[in-house]
Amino acid sequence: MKKLTAIAAAFAVAGALATTAPVHAQQRFVTIGTGGVTGVYYAAGGSICRLINANRAQHGIRCSVESTGGSVYNLNTIRGGELDFGVAQSDWQYHAFNGSSSFADAGANKDLRAVFSIHPEPFTVLVRKEAGVTKFEDLKGKRFNVGNPGSGTRASMEELLGAMGWTLRDFSLAAELKADEHGAALCDNQIDGFFYGVGHPSANIQDPTTTCGAKLVPLTGPAVDKLVDERPYYAKVDIPGGLYANNPDPTPTYGVLATFVTSTNTPEDVVYTMVKAVFDNFDDFKRLHPAFAHLVPEDMVKNGLSAPLHDGAVKYYKERGWM
Ligand code: GLU
Repeated sequence: MKKLTAIAAAFAVAGALATTAPVHAQQRFVTIGTGGVTGVYYAAGGSICRLINANRAQHGIRCSVESTGGSVYNLNTIRGGELDFGVAQSDWQYHAFNGSSSFADAGANKDLRAVFSIHPEPFTVLVRKEAGVTKFEDLKGKRFNVGNPGSGTRASMEELLGAMGWTLRDFSLAAELKADEHGAALCDNQIDGFFYGVGHPSANIQDPTTTCGAKLVPLTGPAVDKLVDERPYYAKVDIPGGLYANNPDPTPTYGVLATFVTSTNTPEDVVYTMVKAVFDNFDDFKRLHPAFAHLVPEDMVKNGLSAPLHDGAVKYYKERGWM
């Protein structure tokens, strides 16, 4: 009798599943590689996943974010097949696809695919207010955080140092702290300044500007001019004045775009579902972080992308008349 009840119950469950389960009942998991939890990539990944997961019952895709070392790590890990999606600076998307700069040894990744670009990432130099630094050159001989290996920040820092004819030895200390750690290190006087490629406003710039009055420093001069002239992925940009406490004036610098990437191994319907979730709910997406406030879809589907668009993205962008 017991047995029969159990079997009947099992049938009841199976029956319920059969009638309520959607067409794509099979769960699929996708992971987005981001950056430090206090940066903007983590928020971007979280926002994308939130919009996808809202309709999980229909498409069966469950999206999760992973905090990582940043752009270069994400690009390498997508290539290795361990991440489905990632956020990456437009300069490192370019180098990964073309096998240039620090991707020369690995070679071109022709399976890399662009999905869309997101927010601008001005290269940001923040210093202790007591450091006596008003321009990047003043950092010679000082303790400077150049970023963790694997971050786009660190890779772009090395490009700038190369253009200036500097090396890491030009600093008395070239620290390799992660972005989640650099604000506290600055206010604790363990470093005099740090470099960070990030969207604004970012929590880990907000903290040190508020807590210890840290100052933004312009990134200008002949080396920057040359980089911006020669490299398609760099552009001059200002960090707006008044965005951060104790920094009322605009800060001229240069920067890249954050981009969202995947590989040819990601199925077309997964990418289609993802871009549809973002762009069908674009006002919601923009509200999820202040760095997204000025995004325009027609620009996001073309600016800052070096790798070809993924087929699933192309399908949706054509439907919307953006291509
Ligand atoms: N652009 C940074 C990097 O790849 C990450 C910025 C962020 O996490 O918002 O190193």
